[in-house]
Amino acid sequence: MFGNFGEFRNYINGEFVEEGKKKDLISPVDGSVIAKIFLASEDAAREAIDSAYDAFHGKWIKSTLSERKRLLEKLSDIVQEKSELYSQLESANTGKTIRQSTLMDIPLAIDHLRYFAHEAEFREQREILHPEYPDSRGIIQYAPLGVIGAIVPWNVPLMMTVWKLAPALMTGNTVVIKSSQFTPLTALELAKDIEKAGFPKGVVNIMAGEGGSVGGVIASSPKVNAVSFTGSTSTGRKVLNTASSQIKKVTLELGGKSPNIIFDDANIETAVKGALFGIYLNSGQLCESGSRLIIQKSIRSKFMELMEEKMRRLNPGNPMQFETDISAITTRDQLDKINEMVSLGGSEGVEVIQPVSMEGKVPPGGFYYPPTILAGVEKKHMVANEEIFGPVVTIQDFETEEEAVRIANDTRYGLASAVWTNDQAKALRVASQIEAGTVWINDYHLLSAAAPRGGFKDSGIGRELGLEGLMEYTQTRHIFISSDKSDLKEIAYGLLLP
Ligand code: NAD
Repeated sequence: MFGNFGEFRNYINGEFVEEGKKKDLISPVDGSVIAKIFLASEDAAREAIDSAYDAFHGKWIKSTLSERKRLLEKLSDIVQEKSELYSQLESANTGKTIRQSTLMDIPLAIDHLRYFAHEAEFREQREILHPEYPDSRGIIQYAPLGVIGAIVPWNVPLMMTVWKLAPALMTGNTVVIKSSQFTPLTALELAKDIEKAGFPKGVVNIMAGEGGSVGGVIASSPKVNAVSFTGSTSTGRKVLNTASSQIKKVTLELGGKSPNIIFDDANIETAVKGALFGIYLNSGQLCESGSRLIIQKSIRSKFMELMEEKMRRLNPGNPMQFETDISAITTRDQLDKINEMVSLGGSEGVEVIQPVSMEGKVPPGGFYYPPTILAGVEKKHMVANEEIFGPVVTIQDFETEEEAVRIANDTRYGLASAVWTNDQAKALRVASQIEAGTVWINDYHLLSAAAPRGGFKDSGIGRELGLEGLMEYTQTRHIFISSDKSDLKEIAYGLLLP
């Protein structure tokens, strides 16, 4: 199924360096050692930043948009050829099912690389007229920011890396990426392919490293012009604080507690499937997981019955086998956190329902948690408010549309949400009132490279993907071209000159 993938070195200044603390990487699938990695030191992080800085101010700043797109296209072709290896690495390292890596995570990462290689909407500049000065014209340039520091979480390693890398490079920046110390394998494999694709030395640097040290160096460096961070809200706050010692752009893609609203006129069969997909895909370790089911009271019992029946059909097993439905939990710490949160819910009086038995069915030594429903949840319960980041869904009910919207918005998060109903007008009315960066109508989790993603409230600032996501990596330069003939010039100068 999988063995040991060997040694993965960090990619700094165009070299694969043997530097930092050597560490055995454990697979959450069965606890076995799957690779050796190096946790980069703070000095190595500084060296990576210096090399990205020199590369930006050297040749890269003169590169053309079409050259950069060609390199991204080449990279996507190489990754495509090796997609099976990428799927194996991603699943062995994160514990997500091989079915999900093969059919979703890796193909989407490749599609998104291609999207940025072919993106047609982005222009490096546009012309404007100044209504106040008819004899003049303006050029608005979308200039790169310089060095981008990218900090990536452990749950969707390759895709999250691509979401930062591709738009940053396409718009002419250089990049220093810190992968999660828990799941760096696909990003470090990507480094090998970045070199093969022919990106110049220093343009991309990728390291496995610890948050407080390497992440801190990236966030605080005066040579890093922008930080693109994805992770938890509490770490996002720290990054914002650290980065504020300089004036730099920070985008934050943070946690969620996403509401999934089911109206009684929805197609119940589909809505139940969508609710299960919404929370149990990747064992709930997705930022946008639909972790709060908000069901209209009139269909609540029927819905839950159907839900439990379908849950019993989920197939626990070894995630590296194609027919397994349930992913492992990526780290032992996360498994402990899920256990603690569910126990806390139980002690608060919430009903804990676990229809799937995992015992004896999953590889010993791995990290697993059964799909769980927490019923009878109210706002006062901790589990209604805090992100659990595991296969755990809370159930709340409502009677009116207004009440559904109120419960959905009654959270400090605002990342994603869904509305299930056959009434299109109601769906749009409700969707437009939800405080979240994404609202699905009669669906969940589907994402498009063309659509911006991000959070309202404590779920973040800034956007990834789409034209809006690209723009995050640029800054405008307004060039004002005046005409010598302009009468207004005389009037304006007359404000000062006699
Ligand atoms: P995390 O916040 O623990 O870590 C994220 C990254 O930040 C890691 O690379 C980590 O090493 C680094 N880090 C930790 N401390 C740091 C510090 N002081 N300075 C700089 N960097 C530091 O998050 P995680 O546990 O890896 O990922 C799970 C979280 O990420 C969840 O809350 C989830 O909702 C969120 N997430 C959000 C999105 C999104 O698009 N909004 C996507 C995926 C995950």
